[in-house]
Amino acid sequence: MSRVEEQFKKLSKLWPDFESRSGQIQMANSVEQAFASSEHLIVEAGTGVGKSLAYLIPAAISALEGEEIVVISTETKALQDQLIRKDIPLVSQILGQEVKAEIAMGASNYVCKRKLGNVLTQGTFGPEMMEHLNSFKDWVSNSESGRRQEYDGYASPDFWSKVTREADSCLGRSCPNFSHSFYFLERAKWQKSNLLIVNHSLLAAHIASDFNILPDFKKIVVDEAHNFPEVLGNAFRIELSSLEIQKLLQGIWNSQKKSGLGARLNSPKINDLTNHAGEKLFLCFNKVVGELPLNFYGSQRIRRPLKMDGGELEAALDSLQEALLIELKKYSKDSDEIEEKEIAMELEMSSGRIGQIAEGLHLFRTMDEGERVYWADPPNTKTKEMFPKLLTQPLKSETILREVLEPRTESMVFTSATLSTNKGDLSYFADRIGRLPSRSKLVASPFPYEKNALLFLPKDIKDATESAERNAADLSRYILKLIELTKGGAFVLFTSNKSLNEIIETIRPLTDLPIISQLEMGPEAAKNRFLAEKDAVLFGVSSFWQGVDIRGDKLRSVILTKLPFQPPNDPVLEARSEKLKEKGGNPFKDLQLPYATTVLKQGFGRLIRSEKDTGIVSLLDSRIWTKSYGTDLINSLPPAKRVTEWNQLKLEYSKLPNYSSGEAV
Ligand code: SF4
Repeated sequence: MSRVEEQFKKLSKLWPDFESRSGQIQMANSVEQAFASSEHLIVEAGTGVGKSLAYLIPAAISALEGEEIVVISTETKALQDQLIRKDIPLVSQILGQEVKAEIAMGASNYVCKRKLGNVLTQGTFGPEMMEHLNSFKDWVSNSESGRRQEYDGYASPDFWSKVTREADSCLGRSCPNFSHSFYFLERAKWQKSNLLIVNHSLLAAHIASDFNILPDFKKIVVDEAHNFPEVLGNAFRIELSSLEIQKLLQGIWNSQKKSGLGARLNSPKINDLTNHAGEKLFLCFNKVVGELPLNFYGSQRIRRPLKMDGGELEAALDSLQEALLIELKKYSKDSDEIEEKEIAMELEMSSGRIGQIAEGLHLFRTMDEGERVYWADPPNTKTKEMFPKLLTQPLKSETILREVLEPRTESMVFTSATLSTNKGDLSYFADRIGRLPSRSKLVASPFPYEKNALLFLPKDIKDATESAERNAADLSRYILKLIELTKGGAFVLFTSNKSLNEIIETIRPLTDLPIISQLEMGPEAAKNRFLAEKDAVLFGVSSFWQGVDIRGDKLRSVILTKLPFQPPNDPVLEARSEKLKEKGGNPFKDLQLPYATTVLKQGFGRLIRSEKDTGIVSLLDSRIWTKSYGTDLINSLPPAKRVTEWNQLKLEYSKLPNYSSGEAV
């Protein structure tokens, strides 16, 4: 019996309800072996395998024995909460030893006492915070972590941005608050932890910052790994927003208000150079508008270097950066004077950011850096972004994984319920992580899908490409029938906001069931309301296709309105497709279809979260019948009983175990 098997045996004794499953033990053995032999591992573990304990037990043993940190990265906060509150205390109990676990968050989640002090002294907290200030201060005095997630009073987004830590303006050891700085006290705990829990964005930011955020680690488990490659690519993205550049310049010198860093420096030269850069900024982005085809609705690729203003803004920013660096020589971060330290820090931060923007502009004018994809997002009047935003990121996150992360680690375990495409094929995910030499394992879900779940696949839905109007009418008709059949308790999931808004308008007047829209109240509030209301129907988009875990009778129907293909004009997908084609590959088969399969499996996975969950997953997209790939997509889903006719569905639904929601219509 392996060491991890012994622990699972103890678990059965400690917790009589615990049912040891062979799949879970197999996975735990594989993780233990990967850690012991410094190998990488890809494990797809179907819903219900109990994968978190299957990796936590070997991870904790490895961390305790090796006196090292094992990092666990997740995509969702819900999973982090489950690990820290439920699973890790259980692991400590069975190991008979405390497993120290901490959740690490990005810098901007922590209150910065220095910034808060300045805001309070200068009275710049904003009128909206007037009546909430005392309760905020009370919370700060009593809080151990200073994490904004723990504050349950009101604080405006603007206030948060003024009082939370910014990596490049933090004084670190030179700060008078250093010894009791929330962020640094937390970091000290991270350093002493056995298991350090992070989210994918923080892990990706750590990699993008040249491994400067988290403590050293050699072993890592990436749970909910299906989205990690994408998050990693995004962390290396460069964004040039005229609005953000303008804000940065105004922070250096605002000539109208006579405020900003320049006011503290008393340097007419810096003020003049900042004004000059501000003028060039608008000229430059005006030229960009002239160079890009008019497009107010979506992203558009930039395929050749932009002329922009011939480098005038870059030159203006270079001069400003130079002047800031000269000024910086007059100040020291190690000074005893807090005022001087702060000026030094602000000069360093501003000059650094100005330099990054100049480099970014240069990149768009030359496109001379490796394999990157470049595009522009349209202006956004809601955010007052008047010009297109310029964006670029590396084309392949797999290269980053293979060339940047892999050499720094001994063992990486990637796991999720949805890594494979058809018939357990893991090659798509293996490609996405750079074909790292790794073992792989598939552990099937133990849930009785054949008995508990129905997969409804109607054949009479008009294809949207043939008639958008007929398609919308067919969708509305089926959605209405389906939500009445289960008497609510349904998710209706869309791939676009537009489609959700159209259909919800049709459905609302036709039913008495409570209808909730994610787009009207945001995902968190929509989910809470769905849980609070009896028999509710939640209309959601991408964030409800994955990561939402609602067990029991509350959710008894998941209606997927469309196959979740990525929009073909997504700039990164488009660029990857072109590259693949050049090499003789088939972008639809090798990129789009595997992506859609993974998301479809995630969408299906919302329904059955425990052995006793029952219900219907409906897929209202006729392409599963008319396109050659349809069969493969359906075969990739768990083995629910398939139904195509409405009357048959009503009958089968009435026969589901634990069926308790009334008569079928
Ligand atoms: S050390 Fe950094 S984060 Fe902490 S209070 Fe000082 S400036 Fe703020």
